Amino acid sequence: MADQAHPSPVSPGQMSSGGRSKGAAVTISGVTKTFRNRSRSTQALTSVDLTIDRGEFVTLLGPSGCGKSTLLHIVGGLITPDAGVVTIDGSTPHAARSKKQFGLIPQAPALVPWRTVHENILFLSTLNKRAGQTALPPTQIDELIEAVGLTDFCHAYPHELSGGMQQRVALVRGFALGAPVLLMDEPFAALDEITRASARYLLLDLWSRTGATVIFVTHSIPEAVILSDRVVVMAARPGRVAAVEDITLPRPRTPEMEDETVFLDHLRRLRNDLRDHHT
Ligand code: ADP
Repeated sequence: MADQAHPSPVSPGQMSSGGRSKGAAVTISGVTKTFRNRSRSTQALTSVDLTIDRGEFVTLLGPSGCGKSTLLHIVGGLITPDAGVVTIDGSTPHAARSKKQFGLIPQAPALVPWRTVHENILFLSTLNKRAGQTALPPTQIDELIEAVGLTDFCHAYPHELSGGMQQRVALVRGFALGAPVLLMDEPFAALDEITRASARYLLLDLWSRTGATVIFVTHSIPEAVILSDRVVVMAARPGRVAAVEDITLPRPRTPEMEDETVFLDHLRRLRNDLRDHHT
């Protein structure tokens, strides 16, 4: 499993197989979080350690309630941990957030209804640019729009699009920011299985064009395998890292790979990991 090219693992078994060894983009060290309210407290995360390389695609996989979203939000500077340290290119999550180093792609596409597809995609990038932050150049954004088959819909409004098309707009909008780190919280959860299966490959295409670091949350094992360099299996009560699996499928990934033994072996191992740590 070990890959000599990876310089700074925080904990064992966290090496990527994607050859994306340009140093750590995100480090998570000893992160612990308990939510407290009047009647009870929930230990959402305990002692989570993880190092994510630049350009790596890492998926957090686990059942509901194992702390995937909490961890994603801690990395994104939206939740403060009780203990532990997170760095994004050496900055705190809060500083990275104010430098617009994140793009967040949520479950629901959250498009602005009175703006066209093109305006929705450009809106946040334009704001970022005005603030002196990164955004992809317009020609590259047009290439992304074309890559997901939306060129003919640039002047359509969100209500004229299917759910799958709206989610494609949200994907392009996320990548168009040019942010080095993209946080994706089950972005395909609302899609039907067939649309969802093809959306995975569109996402991989966009990712390969931009080289962003991606932290992706899902509870779908096949989705985790086909997308990722590494899958981090999380377990609940308390939320923690239970196992880490390097995905050895070559890139670019293709639908045909889903019938291959390597894919099926990963599937089986991850299913066992999830079962072993299910409480
Ligand atoms: P996942 O994304 O894996 O479904 P979450 O990170 O959303 O899990 O939640 C982890 C645990 O923390 C769950 O038990 C959840 O109920 C609890 N939790 C999450 N957010 C809050 C909150 N704001 N207040 C109280 N409990 C929370």
